[in-house]
Amino acid sequence: MITRRHLIASAAAAGATASMMPVRSWAQASMKLGEASIDIVSDGHLQLPLSMVLGRVPEDQHAEWLKSHPGDVEMVKSPLNLTLYRDGERTVMFDAGSGPNFMSSAGKLKAALDAIGVAADDVTHVVFTHAHPDHIWGVIDDFDEMVFANAEYSISQAEWDYWYDPETVNKVPAERQSFAVGAKRMMEAIEEKVSRFTPDTEVLPGIEAFDTSGHTPGHTSFVIHQGSESLMVVGDVLTNAEYSFSHPEWEMGTDSDAAQGVAARKALLDRLAADKTNLVGYHLPHPGTGRVEKKDTGFVFVAD
Ligand SMILES: [Zn+2]
Repeated sequence: MITRRHLIASAAAAGATASMMPVRSWAQASMKLGEASIDIVSDGHLQLPLSMVLGRVPEDQHAEWLKSHPGDVEMVKSPLNLTLYRDGERTVMFDAGSGPNFMSSAGKLKAALDAIGVAADDVTHVVFTHAHPDHIWGVIDDFDEMVFANAEYSISQAEWDYWYDPETVNKVPAERQSFAVGAKRMMEAIEEKVSRFTPDTEVLPGIEAFDTSGHTPGHTSFVIHQGSESLMVVGDVLTNAEYSFSHPEWEMGTDSDAAQGVAARKALLDRLAADKTNLVGYHLPHPGTGRVEKKDTGFVFVAD
């Protein structure tokens, strides 16, 4: 299925004083899907507190997890893999990245698009998995201008209703209030150009939405169909390359409804393993592409 693939890791820094300078880097992968092309473009990464990543992972498993992540002692790097689909007629971004105001290590999407010769103005559609900051805050730039000036937007009705509700900010935990304020602000920015969909529909020709709510109330994953080939954009249902697969029953502290998140994860893994569909995981190790296989009592991620 993947007929052409390359991985470019780029770093730009100023000469011999590089160690003094912030290093900008991104990873990018490209593949064909039928007649269409897929690029995985990086928005940088998030820096997450270890306690948040381990979340509700059972304590007796922490030591083992840490052994496989020797560098991640206090802060864990979480990659940001955005999927760009181009079929000659449409140029579709799945999610919009973090923009300039979330974390300094993120918001690199424009540089990543530049590197493959794609202008933000070329994007015809932006399709959202959900409205967390690292997925939707990238719709506006430093000057509050629309980044994707010519795009139309699609988001699930449930996700829209939840974050657009002015009461949501009062219902979320204090540390998440900025998420609610930000989501509503971004939604107001795209309001004139957004269509809301219900799950199990085609949001665009060949792009099927299905409900994976749990991480957020309207979280959606997508299958891109091209001829006999398909690719699944899973969003944040599978965020850790090990335990999201080996222990889908572990509840995630980052899911707004942890039990619903577990159910969504199990159902998705069953489907991915049965159909042998290639997937892109937003926070899986760059570029986030691979397959799912059954292993022991759980599953395993087979990275490309
Ligand atoms: Zn995310």
